Amino acid sequence: PDPTLRPQRLPEDEGRALRPQMLDDFVGQAEARANLRVFIQSARSRGEAMDHTLFHGPPGLGKTTLAQIMARELGVNFRMTSGPVLAKAGDLAAILTNLETRDVLFIDEIHRLNPAVEEVLYPAMEDYELDLVIGEGPAARTVRIELQPFTLVGATTRLGLLTTPLRDRFGIPTRLQFYTVDELNSIVTRNAEKLGVRAEPAGAREIARRARGTPRIAGRLLRRVVDFAVVEGNGVVTQQLADGALTRLGVDGMGLDGADRRYLRLIAEHYAGGPVGIETISAALSESRDAIEEVIEPYLLQQGLIQRTPRGRMLAQRAWDHLGMPAPKPPGQ
Ligand code: ADP
Repeated sequence: PDPTLRPQRLPEDEGRALRPQMLDDFVGQAEARANLRVFIQSARSRGEAMDHTLFHGPPGLGKTTLAQIMARELGVNFRMTSGPVLAKAGDLAAILTNLETRDVLFIDEIHRLNPAVEEVLYPAMEDYELDLVIGEGPAARTVRIELQPFTLVGATTRLGLLTTPLRDRFGIPTRLQFYTVDELNSIVTRNAEKLGVRAEPAGAREIARRARGTPRIAGRLLRRVVDFAVVEGNGVVTQQLADGALTRLGVDGMGLDGADRRYLRLIAEHYAGGPVGIETISAALSESRDAIEEVIEPYLLQQGLIQRTPRGRMLAQRAWDHLGMPAPKPPGQ
């Protein structure tokens, strides 16, 4: 599938230009934002490290952005790493011992930490202490190292995969939600301004409606639509131009992409609407179970297109309507 349509990180997202810098520029997630504002202000006025914070929710909703904003609002350094990158306990120890007072350490994909690394994190989070084992065999001994107070910000797309001891050590667990069309509309409008592009309100709205509830996708779709506007239009993002460009990119009227539609069609055409198990879907689509559960399903669930039941996934009426297919009658009716 076209990577433009997937919410995973791409190099072009690293461009700082479009990222909101302060809490006030951050659109949406009103509840999370209001709470963070209080916790940030309180930590600042007490002169203490802010409590450890866990962001969870689908990719592309602003977890990294919020962590960066926290550091900026707290007036401290931002350090970033990720679960799979920290292979050994020593890798994490090296990062922790280099933090300055009250810094924010962001660990992306924190559900993928190696258990030996996770062990190091517990006393670090709880008491700002590191217990390091030096040497091997009978000569091995443990040394305790004092750390500066710091704030750990963890991000995960899979809360269920976090171990309980780790989860319990976050004082501020925060769930991020898909964005509304209005919120995405204001993100697209602001981004167009920052890119120096003229977008008609109906054009911006068309992109927002079809961005799968996700700011990262909205940002990418805007860039692609601008490409079409520059080459095939007069540079202005109109609704007609946005509609044509998005359709050519394989984004349908509801914002679903090719992978979403393949998922729905598989259940409709081969399993009479389900229920069908996730392993079966994964094998049939040649997509990893993780990708299906992290990327495809959350939005389909949120839109009421599918249901998760103990016996597997089922299409909801709305999915049949969207596919333009009649739902099969339940047996016996
Ligand atoms: P995550 O860490 O949840 O995968 P990111 O924080 O990397 O998501 O955000 C993805 C992209 O979307 C970034 O380019 C960011 O600038 C943009 N973005 C995310 N949330 C917002 C928001 N509330 N307002 C504007 N842009 C946002």
